[in-house]
Amino acid sequence: MRRGYQKTWELLDNNRLREESLAERFETLAQEQSDPALRQILGDIALRCKKNSGKIEQMFEALSAETYQVMLRCPICGWAIPFGSDPAVGTEAKCELCAIWFRLEEREGNYFLKKIGKKDGQ
Ligand SMILES: [Zn+2]
Repeated sequence: MRRGYQKTWELLDNNRLREESLAERFETLAQEQSDPALRQILGDIALRCKKNSGKIEQMFEALSAETYQVMLRCPICGWAIPFGSDPAVGTEAKCELCAIWFRLEEREGNYFLKKIGKKDGQ
């Protein structure tokens, strides 16, 4: 698991488990139907749930890759602030949109940005 993304990871994992559970339920329901049209619809829903689970797996792979670029949203304006692939806690970065500086911090496995403010001459 990528450092700094504990909450995100848990949320995605819960969603993945939910999609897998729904896929099983819809597959079972589809098999119980005698109406071919209804069986098809329920089967399609089960397939969609499996695809969603697969997409979440891809997100885990992307998030785990060494090349993944940590980007955090500016808490003031929402602009993306890049921190590179393996940022050190304490790294300072400026939001390019609102020109406010932040320090990367970590709490309970989650990154967050602590506002430093404006710096003279920048
Ligand atoms: Zn900003």
